[in-house]
Amino acid sequence: MTDKTVFDWSTLSATEQAAVLARPKLDDSSDIQQTVASIIETVRQQGDTALVAYSQQFDGLSNNALVLNKQQQQQRINDLSADRKAAIDLAYGNIRRFHAAQLPQDIEVETSPGVVCQLKNRAINAVGLYIPAGTAPLPSTVLMLGVPAQLAGCERVVMVTPPGKAAADAITPEIVYAAFLCGITEIYTIGGAQAIAALAYGTATIAKVDKIFGPGNRYVTEAKQQVSQQQSGAQIDMPAGPSEVLVVADSAANASFVAADLLSQAEHGVDSQVLLVSDSAELIQQVQVEVALQVSTLPRQAIAKAALQHSRYILTADIQQAVAVTNAYAPEHLIIQTNNAEQLALQFTSAASIFVGAWTPESAGDYASGTNHVLPTYGYSKTLSSLSLVDFYRRYTVQQLTKTGLRNIGPAIVTLAQAEGLDAHAAAVSKRLAVLALSQE
Ligand code: NAD
Repeated sequence: MTDKTVFDWSTLSATEQAAVLARPKLDDSSDIQQTVASIIETVRQQGDTALVAYSQQFDGLSNNALVLNKQQQQQRINDLSADRKAAIDLAYGNIRRFHAAQLPQDIEVETSPGVVCQLKNRAINAVGLYIPAGTAPLPSTVLMLGVPAQLAGCERVVMVTPPGKAAADAITPEIVYAAFLCGITEIYTIGGAQAIAALAYGTATIAKVDKIFGPGNRYVTEAKQQVSQQQSGAQIDMPAGPSEVLVVADSAANASFVAADLLSQAEHGVDSQVLLVSDSAELIQQVQVEVALQVSTLPRQAIAKAALQHSRYILTADIQQAVAVTNAYAPEHLIIQTNNAEQLALQFTSAASIFVGAWTPESAGDYASGTNHVLPTYGYSKTLSSLSLVDFYRRYTVQQLTKTGLRNIGPAIVTLAQAEGLDAHAAAVSKRLAVLALSQE
């Protein structure tokens, strides 16, 4: 095979295999780090003035008012067609049903007689939701973040999204309607690293939040990482960067479906990555032909073609090797189009969201099946999880000991504290035990 995007896995050295599975690097990452650090610092020093200036510089919008007020929100909703409203309603219903079932339960356990421990869940107070809109406004992301925030009952839910070039109130009616369904009325017309900085540190117009959620491009993702490393900043959900899809398919797969699935992620952004891993050289060739045909029909073909430059078609010796390659890559999205898709799904150990069988396009999870489309990228799905309702809660513990409880575990605590050389810890228990020794209760 001469195509530079096609690789015969068994013939590659370990170093070559690692290079094939590497994420695309479009820009020097240290440049992005510096750019983002400087944007964050400027927002911290200049507040709203910096937000307005960056809106002009990066989004081409002069005199951004920063706020989408309630009247403007209502006007945008009035503009929305009935069929789009119905589609958003359907997606909202499914996402809500799936997330409502994830409600975390408080637990209470008596670990020893008289020693009661509790694990409690409380909604995070103020959350900031980032809705990407650089190249494509994503109302679906409003639902993915807004529904769990609403179900958790977060007291303050703030949404930020980049405005269109025309005017700040040109934020799409779909985004505003999805926000309305989720009960979000605090909406700011800002995007990029500057929006993350505003959420993390606050400005005169935007009060600081406790935790920031949402996907975004490299600037957004880097800004989230940076603000989460400072105590005065904000917590974040996860690094949810440029989209990735990996399709595992055998000779039984429909090449047209596979090509469509690959393109559905390639059109996200020039730094998206799409991979096909198959034990069939014939299928790979068919998919390549289909991709070339289908891409030329897409309005976003320039973006998709740029992303395809770093696509990968990997030929494996058999499907077991395809599983091993997939587990090593740890894709954000994994689509399985094989004969035994359901059984095979059990063998994947590191994908963030899995789509099983020929009738499960990844677009279903992007929009309306009910699962969350905010997912870890860059291989973080080996250890990080897809966004879920629990991410909008903080967990904390409560314990209470009766006199009997302290009598039961106190001597062991004293022994352990003394073993660690922490005499004050031991004394806090032994003083109480001494009082209890004099008591009849
Ligand atoms: P975006 O809203 O993330 O970014 C747009 C903003 O980036 C602009 O408002 C601007 O402020 C900033 N920006 C652009 N160029 C800049 C520059 N040169 N310097 C500094 N700042 C700059 O929208 P987008 O660009 O369309 O990206 C959305 C991303 O989200 C895509 O990569 C998509 O794949 C990803 N995504 C990921 C998930 C996930 O769960 N991982 C889900 C949906 C979307």
